[in-house]
Amino acid sequence: MPEGRNRRIVVYGHPALRRRAGAVSTFTPELAQVFADIKETMLQQDGLGLAANQIGEAVAVFSINPRAAGVDRDPCCIINPRVVRTGGSVEDEEGCLSLPGLYEVIARPSMVLVAGFDENGAPVEIEGEGLLARALLHEVDHLNGVLFIDHLSPTRRRLLNARLSEFEELERRACE
Ligand code: ZN
Repeated sequence: MPEGRNRRIVVYGHPALRRRAGAVSTFTPELAQVFADIKETMLQQDGLGLAANQIGEAVAVFSINPRAAGVDRDPCCIINPRVVRTGGSVEDEEGCLSLPGLYEVIARPSMVLVAGFDENGAPVEIEGEGLLARALLHEVDHLNGVLFIDHLSPTRRRLLNARLSEFEELERRACE
C-alpha cells in the first residue's frame, strides 16, 4: 500500500459531489494511491467516513472508520460498495465534512449490510448498526451524488438556503 496523503476535502458547491462514481474494474497503482489518500484524509480530518468524490476522485470507493462509531474494527476502504440489506429505521443527527458545521436530523435504516471489495480486490462485507449504519449509508449516498441534506423535506431544505450559498462561496474561493 502506498502512503496516503491528506488531501483537501471539497465543500458543497463543488461539482464532484454531484457526480455518480464510476465502478472500479482494474486495481492500478494510481487507484491504490487514491485508496490510501481517502483513508489518510478521513483519519487526519477526523471523519467517520469519506467518499472518493469528496477529494475530487470519481471512483466508487469510500473509507470508513468503525472505531469512530465505537466498533472495534480497523479503518478500511470499501470499493464498489453495494447495499445488500437494511433493517429498521432511526432518526438521528447527521453531518458531513463537505458541509462543515451543518447538522440535521435525518431518518435512516438502523442496520445495514454493505458488500464490496478491499484495497487488494478481495470481497469484503461490513455490517453496521446505529451510527456505523448511518455512516455507511451516508457514504454510499455520496458515490451516487447524493448528500444528506437531500433527505430533508423541501421546507427544511429551504431553511438552509443561506447556509448552502455560504458553502458555495467558500468552495468558489478555494478553487481560485
Ligand atoms: Zn459526507
